[in-house]
Amino acid sequence: MIVSPPEPHFVGDGFRVHNFIPSVYRMEMKRMDPFILLDYNSKFYFPPSNYPKGVGVHPHRGFETVTIAYQGSVAHHDSHGGGGVIHKGDVQWMTAAKGVLHKEYHEKEFSKKGGDFQMVQLWVNLPAKYKMSKPKYQALSHEDFEKFLLDNKRGEVEVIAGEYRNAKGIASTFSPIHLYNIRLKKDSSLELSFPANFNTGLLIIEGKVAVNNESADLDNFVLMKNDGENFELKALEESLVLVLSGEPIGEPIAAHGPFVMNTFDEISKAFVDYNNGEFGYLDGSIE
Ligand code: MN
Repeated sequence: MIVSPPEPHFVGDGFRVHNFIPSVYRMEMKRMDPFILLDYNSKFYFPPSNYPKGVGVHPHRGFETVTIAYQGSVAHHDSHGGGGVIHKGDVQWMTAAKGVLHKEYHEKEFSKKGGDFQMVQLWVNLPAKYKMSKPKYQALSHEDFEKFLLDNKRGEVEVIAGEYRNAKGIASTFSPIHLYNIRLKKDSSLELSFPANFNTGLLIIEGKVAVNNESADLDNFVLMKNDGENFELKALEESLVLVLSGEPIGEPIAAHGPFVMNTFDEISKAFVDYNNGEFGYLDGSIE
């Protein structure tokens, strides 16, 4: 199934996103388990601003937020002490687990100058036994990603998590996940294969591709059918494609706003704990 980007909306004043998961028909949380949210800020020009645009302090519990920067830079701070700036090509992998407060803004210098901004935020669910574990933060620099290089410089598979042939992802995950950036020259192609029970999708970040001869334009999402067969990805133009594939966790999902647990009692408990200050403290200044 090829999905064109839904109408965008603003998250805070800094992220203009198309929400594919869970709001698109047939892309609800269960269908794409363990990927329970996919917000895509397609390439969008932000004019210079005296203050960084973004989202102020807010809580999360029960899952991980994964932010992939394609254009522009994002600064992040959380109540667990995690923080930093990710630039073009970098990935931030924050495990909220039992609870963090965080804030996400355009990086200061980027804000001052303005420019094209393009980014993906994924929420990756946690198995029940890890939902109340200690929060964790992984800052992943593009320089450290292993790549599988296609011959004759036809392209590369950059592995963020999981593996592709001999290239291994440096992100640690709590359930089996493959996350790749695939760059292909025009007319190059590549075979991909994932287990039939994995939920698999592709987001076209640059260019235009064909997946098993069905064409997908820039900013489209390709939802695979769980038939487990190999599929062929072919670049119709020079392209960059984000590939996500994960084994479903298969547990009940109870989601409310920034909390994703297994039962609604656990959601109520999240609100109580949040109101009691158990997520820690984070000052609201824009940094
Ligand atoms: Mn957040």
